[in-house]
Amino acid sequence: MTETLAELDGLRPPGGKRSNKREKILNVFLRQEGHLSADDLVELIRREDQGISRATVYRTLQWMVEAGIARKVDFGEGRFRFEHSYRHPRHFHLICKKCNRSSEFLSSDIEALIEEVAAARSFSANQSVLQIYGTCAECRTGRPAPVDGGTTDLLFARDALRIAIATEQSGLEFYSRAARAVENPRGRLVFTRLADEERAHLAELEARYRKLLARDPQLESRPTFLFFKGAANGLFAAGAEQVARGVDDRHALLIGIRCERASHRFFKRYGEQFEETEGKQVFLEFADAERAHLEKLVREYRLLVARETRARKRPRPAARARG
Ligand SMILES: [Zn+2]
Ligand SMILES: [Zn+2]
Repeated sequence: MTETLAELDGLRPPGGKRSNKREKILNVFLRQEGHLSADDLVELIRREDQGISRATVYRTLQWMVEAGIARKVDFGEGRFRFEHSYRHPRHFHLICKKCNRSSEFLSSDIEALIEEVAAARSFSANQSVLQIYGTCAECRTGRPAPVDGGTTDLLFARDALRIAIATEQSGLEFYSRAARAVENPRGRLVFTRLADEERAHLAELEARYRKLLARDPQLESRPTFLFFKGAANGLFAAGAEQVARGVDDRHALLIGIRCERASHRFFKRYGEQFEETEGKQVFLEFADAERAHLEKLVREYRLLVARETRARKRPRPAARARG
């Protein structure tokens, strides 16, 4: 926790005096997962230190919201709840009106739609809140739902890796199909090598995924947090279909360039928007890997164009005979 506090030092108001009480409250708050009311926090603090007043807790919560350490959420209960944002990615909520439990998720498609609407109305959006009220599976069926321990850094990293793995799988499919579809031996060799590279990278991502699972035995069974409809089937799926219909190496390279560029942009842009988390790192590292693939394809494409140009300039024997 000392490390956490050191990282949060930058968030302190300039000239704000260090207060032991405030630090104690911050510490207790950051240890909690889920959504606490101000009174829940007062109770937790009182268990550790009777000398901290309710007013101090309230004031500190207010400061944490202003400093971006805490987010204030309204679940329609007539009071606010607070969740910490440290290593906790932004999200939307599903709220059960029967048991009052909430569950978190995020969807790139919903966020893209919000951006589109805001842009169309020239509206500069700085926060969007989406809350879905209803009845949870457990309240509806009586059967216990899968463990849902709030959105941990680990859960976010799990889903980021799942998306990266799905993308690599569709990339591998694309390059394998391109290697089969292209007749030119040089083009075939290029795509075979790229497929090998995707296979190696996929193995790395899968190893990282297994390592993550080892840190929490229940991680695999927790509900999905990130919904990426657009990316779930892999950003290369459309390209793989196109290639299967038959293409030459030039066309296959162009499709590959388009897919790698879209993939690089998606992971970079999405990753950059996240709070400092392991999932963010997964996105940004994957974006770099996709850029490396993109550069390789562009290089190959230029070489191919140069070869074709040279071949055209070289006078053909028949032409020479006629001249
Ligand atoms: Zn419920
Ligand atoms: Zn939440």
